Amino acid sequence: MEYSKVIAIDGPSGSGKSTVARELAQVLDVLYIDTGAMFRALAFEADKRSVPFEWSGGLKEFIESIDLKYGTSSECLISINGDNLTQKIREHHVSKLASIISQIPEIREFLLDFQRNLAKSSVCVMEGRDIGTVVFPNAFCKFFVTASVEVRSQRRLEQLRESGDTSVSLEQIMKDVEKRDMSDMNREVAPLKQASDAELVDTGNMNINDVVSQLKEKAILKAKSVGIEL
Ligand code: C5P
Repeated sequence: MEYSKVIAIDGPSGSGKSTVARELAQVLDVLYIDTGAMFRALAFEADKRSVPFEWSGGLKEFIESIDLKYGTSSECLISINGDNLTQKIREHHVSKLASIISQIPEIREFLLDFQRNLAKSSVCVMEGRDIGTVVFPNAFCKFFVTASVEVRSQRRLEQLRESGDTSVSLEQIMKDVEKRDMSDMNREVAPLKQASDAELVDTGNMNINDVVSQLKEKAILKAKSVGIEL
């Protein structure tokens, strides 16, 4: 089997997946690719321009007219037509919009090509919902990162409070997290699920630094076993 030079990290929101993926990429000194940011950016921009979330209702023309770019600096990870959206796409309401737009098959197809192109040349850590199952089923290393709904909601609450957002309660966040999980797991195209060859990582009782060092060791071993240079 020919392996892609991709470390695939999938899992639900708030599982710690993003932090783990970003730090793992950093310690391995490889490219970090956040696919959620892509769905968020498209959803944010389409909503801003009042484009309906229907492929034949204007979304097709919108996609064809924009220049989506994924960068390597944490200050500018994602932009559309030169407008840096990295911060704006983190607002609470954008999560819901991203979840809705991600159910449109043509949007997934567009981003599938975009994601495969980005990972063409060098080793990368790519995080999302369907990286190990759909985007790179032949990734040389796969992890499925998760934690309970309670733990994930609490983390989300802390994130929002840190950014000064006090408008949402823990109860509301738990409802939103459960709703988003349901729609991510039950959608027809590329649902969120653990690939059969992905290793399950529960971050509930673990310190993120410990998780990162464990995954780093595992990724190095896997890379060696399939002849990929890290
Ligand atoms: O990971 P993040 O929470 O930023 O993703 C936002 C939304 O984008 C998710 O709720 C999910 O619906 C969608 N998504 C997806 N496939 C991916 C990454 C994100 O459907 N690979």
